[in-house]
Amino acid sequence: MTDLTGVSQLLNKVSDDPVLRTALDRAISSYWKKRKQVMERYPYVKELADEVRRIKEWSIDHMDELLDKAIEAVEAKGGKAYIAETAEEARKIVGELVGTGKVVTKAKSMTTEELKLREFLIERGNEVYETDLGEFLVQFLGPKPMHFISPSIHLTREKVAEFLKDFMGVEVDKDDVEGMVALVRKFLRDKYFSADVGISGANAFAADRGAVFLIENESNIRLSISLPPKHIAVVGMEKIVPTMSDAWKVVEVISRYGGYKVTSYINTVMGPARSGEGDIGPEEYHVIFLDNGRREASKDPILKQTLYCLRCGACQYLCPVFGIVGGYWAGLESAYSGGIGVMWEYITGDKETSTQHAFACLLCGRCIEACPMRINQPEVLREIRRRLMERI
Ligand code: SF4
Repeated sequence: MTDLTGVSQLLNKVSDDPVLRTALDRAISSYWKKRKQVMERYPYVKELADEVRRIKEWSIDHMDELLDKAIEAVEAKGGKAYIAETAEEARKIVGELVGTGKVVTKAKSMTTEELKLREFLIERGNEVYETDLGEFLVQFLGPKPMHFISPSIHLTREKVAEFLKDFMGVEVDKDDVEGMVALVRKFLRDKYFSADVGISGANAFAADRGAVFLIENESNIRLSISLPPKHIAVVGMEKIVPTMSDAWKVVEVISRYGGYKVTSYINTVMGPARSGEGDIGPEEYHVIFLDNGRREASKDPILKQTLYCLRCGACQYLCPVFGIVGGYWAGLESAYSGGIGVMWEYITGDKETSTQHAFACLLCGRCIEACPMRINQPEVLREIRRRLMERI
């Protein structure tokens, strides 16, 4: 019997948290100002988003075919490709590649959060550092990434200044955001140079060239994956698109709907460094293609919409429930958050808990308006509820 008490208690409790309220209000209003500017400057982006939706629909319908091509392309470039059917299998592959007693630098990646990879590697005796500023704060302050693009959306600058004072032993002005960023950068710089392994996810993956695409603003990803001798990329199977050109379109739509006029860096990785050609980069390139429920969802007429998600985070900013409870919606155990997070959790994680969280949706449909892929979250969440009712 599904018990909704725990979910409503959690959401009620956090909705009263003044720090969370301040942090969310600041982040949401800043996003909408930025999004308006972006849409005015790049009016073609809506049409581009429609094109990306068509690319994603085709790619999800041809997931197995694209997977074969992607594996072939990675291996042709001297990389090593793996298929992980489950989260456990993926952790096992990464565990064997990393070993123990190593230093690992990590790029921000929701897919590796899904695997609880940082915790897993630390338990095995490795030193692991999240290198995205927001993820770095989440690593030490918890409780989990609270937004796809802005994982520390729940933390105010006052809270961050307090933490940095304790962690680094340096007094920081709460309004000096640049100063705080510089402190974390300095701390991480040594880690990049001493790291044995760099781990990333992927914003998109081009099957024709075996290329991982990674967007960032801080240059932390480039350092994390190019300085250590080994790069492991964990790629959700839904990220594979047919060509480089398709992947460029995907990353542009993610950036624009994420609220960026320009992202500072777009990295494309196509294999290990080639000796004698002046390339810099890791000696080993490993790509793990993760299923964990994705292939089954791709055959489900309602759930498959979830796989079109680009994880731009736009819907989270527009959702009235997220605006009050933030990333607590979907639960503390889930890597994901918001209505779309409930859908991701249902596919990749705990069906029972995600079904309970599906009942928090107001079914207002504002997320559809925000979403570049026009994903109908109310339709999917209603279906998840309906499947529960069938069981009881
Ligand atoms: S559902 Fe749409 S708006 Fe929300 S994160 Fe995914 S692509 Fe972005």
